[in-house]
Amino acid sequence: MQAARPQTQAAATRCRKATIVRSTAAPATATKLNTKRSEEIFKEAQELLPGGVNSPVRAFKSVGGQPIVFDHVKGAYCWDADNNKYIDYVGSWGPAIVGHANDEVNEALKAQIEKGTSFGAPCELENVLAKMVIERVPSVEMVRFVNSGTEACLSVVRLMRAYTGREKIIKFTGCYHGHADQFLVQAGSGVLTLGLSDSPGVPATTAAATLTAQYNDIESVKALFEANKGEIAGLILEPVVGNSGFIPPTKEFLQGLRDVCTKEGAVLCFDEVMTGFRIAKGCAQEYFGITPDVTTMGKVIGGGLPVGAYGGKKELMQMVAPAGPMYQAGTLSGNPLAMVAGIKTLEILARPGAYEHLDKVTKRLISGILDAAKETGHAMCGGSISGMFGFFFCEGPVSSFEDAKASDTAKFGKFHRGMLEQGVYLAPSQFEAGFTSLAHTEEDIDRTIEAARTVLKSL
Ligand SMILES: *Cc1c(COP(=O)(O)O)cnc(C)c1O
Repeated sequence: MQAARPQTQAAATRCRKATIVRSTAAPATATKLNTKRSEEIFKEAQELLPGGVNSPVRAFKSVGGQPIVFDHVKGAYCWDADNNKYIDYVGSWGPAIVGHANDEVNEALKAQIEKGTSFGAPCELENVLAKMVIERVPSVEMVRFVNSGTEACLSVVRLMRAYTGREKIIKFTGCYHGHADQFLVQAGSGVLTLGLSDSPGVPATTAAATLTAQYNDIESVKALFEANKGEIAGLILEPVVGNSGFIPPTKEFLQGLRDVCTKEGAVLCFDEVMTGFRIAKGCAQEYFGITPDVTTMGKVIGGGLPVGAYGGKKELMQMVAPAGPMYQAGTLSGNPLAMVAGIKTLEILARPGAYEHLDKVTKRLISGILDAAKETGHAMCGGSISGMFGFFFCEGPVSSFEDAKASDTAKFGKFHRGMLEQGVYLAPSQFEAGFTSLAHTEEDIDRTIEAARTVLKSL
């Protein structure tokens, strides 16, 4: 058996949304793109908002250059403050799966606005969305709506602890579960016992209760359970990683996690904030046929409004207040506007051909980009599942964050800038997955592949 390997600080967990890797990529040379307004607005923003943004990765720190300031979005496209148009593969980081500013979602929202945007009291729309989630997601028998993925994940850890009476949790290097204290942790060399925080402000005692293992390495998980007998409340993971680039799991790995959690009496959580309703109608758990005990959701489930959710077996969910003693609340949770956007989005996704479309366009995109890299002599590996994809500038294969770090991030920075100039908006980091939507056409995909070929040739 391979014990949890000693890790250097650099090789350990990286919650990259808290600690941005600054790329050495020089901002692109001779830019044809006019970004005058973007630059003016961002300059002012830096005096008003920390780093000029309200969420770190938007600031383009890991690709170099200035962020593009958006003006409006529609379907598969976004327009910036200088009126440049881009084919968008970020989709607001996942929610825009039926296309930006979808007419049907917008109509439903307009109708709801007339009836009020927040009640702070029960409304039937909560039941409607809850029934859709329960019907689709294998592990969910009861659900609690919150306002973000972060909130869903931090609540689920409290639930794991309340249910088991244990304190330690296991996460994986490179997996992101929002910015709550207990997730901003890297293992350092003390992987078996002590977690060290990635961010100042996280109490050492909180960090110490978070253990980290390596993705797709079941032995590293078993070693943690062995060294912390009877102390692990639960384990949380991205069932397909998107937050250190696109990294799929092996089915054996997921099955191994299911088995070890059952054996050790620990709660298994699939964090499906990114993969939920994107990988398949019943989320990644349906796609892989492995059922966790609890599931966190976000992004797609809010259809572009702020929503998160967590759910699981009734036995567990009955622990949550006011049914049970575990406290968790929210003034705007389950608000009718957010519920309406989620309901309409899930309704559109249930129509025949929706996931087939996502699968088809995304496969075409990633195989086109990989072919273009091969033709132009660049080492690249990548893949996709349904409407989620990613590629790395390295030979691969990439099966964990440790592998992903072999990627040439300086080259990615130049590629990213080149693609912007070609009218394609990619996530501004090598360590992010990309997203397609029902609005992306084969024509959009082919234009994107042509753009990639042009840029790759120039690198
Ligand atoms: C985005 C994300 C989160 C955090 O959700 P927010 O809504 O940004 O708080 C948590 N887990 C995963 C897997 C995510 O992709």
